[in-house]
Amino acid sequence: MYQMKNIILSLLLAICFVQCHQSLKPMNDRVESNHLKNPYYSRTDKTRLNVSNTEWKKILSPDLYAVAREAATEMPFTGQYYDFDQKGEYYCAVCGNHLFRSEAKFASSCGWPSFFEADGRGVVYKRDSSHGMERVEVCCQRCDSHLGHVFDDGPLPTGVRYCMNSICLDFVPDAKKTF
Ligand SMILES: [Zn+2]
Repeated sequence: MYQMKNIILSLLLAICFVQCHQSLKPMNDRVESNHLKNPYYSRTDKTRLNVSNTEWKKILSPDLYAVAREAATEMPFTGQYYDFDQKGEYYCAVCGNHLFRSEAKFASSCGWPSFFEADGRGVVYKRDSSHGMERVEVCCQRCDSHLGHVFDDGPLPTGVRYCMNSICLDFVPDAKKTF
C-alpha cells in the first residue's frame, strides 16, 4: 500500500512537471524564436555593435530589415503595439537593447506606438531631412537601427512623442521576463 502511494505521488509529480514545463515552453519559444538566427541579440550586453547591413540582411526578416536598416515606415494602424497597453519593457527587435518602459507609453491617435520618454541609454537622435521634412530620427544606441521619429507634440511631463515602428520593438511583459 505504501509503495502504491509512492507510485501515485511520483506520477502526480511527473504530470505536474510536464504541465508546468509545457506552460513555460510556448512563452520561451515565442520570445526566443525570433532571435535564433541573431548572434548579436542580447538584453544584457550593452556593447555597441558595428555590424554591416550585408550581415544584418542575412539575419533579420525582410520587413524588419526594411524599417530598421533602410528607415522604411510601417503602415499606420497595422503594427502589433499601436493599440496595446500591457505592462512591461520594450527592447530593440534587432539587438535586444532596452528602449522604453510601458509606463511611458500613451494612447496616441497617430497609428504607431507612442511614448513620452525613452531609456536615456537606449536611443540616439539624428537629424532627418528626408521626404521634404525636418524631423528628428530616433535610433537604437547599441545597433544604430532606425526606430522612428520624435516630435514635440507629446503629453506631459516631457511634451515629446516618440513615434515608433512596432516591428522594431520587442515587448516583454513584466511577469514573463526572460534574461
Ligand atoms: Zn538595437
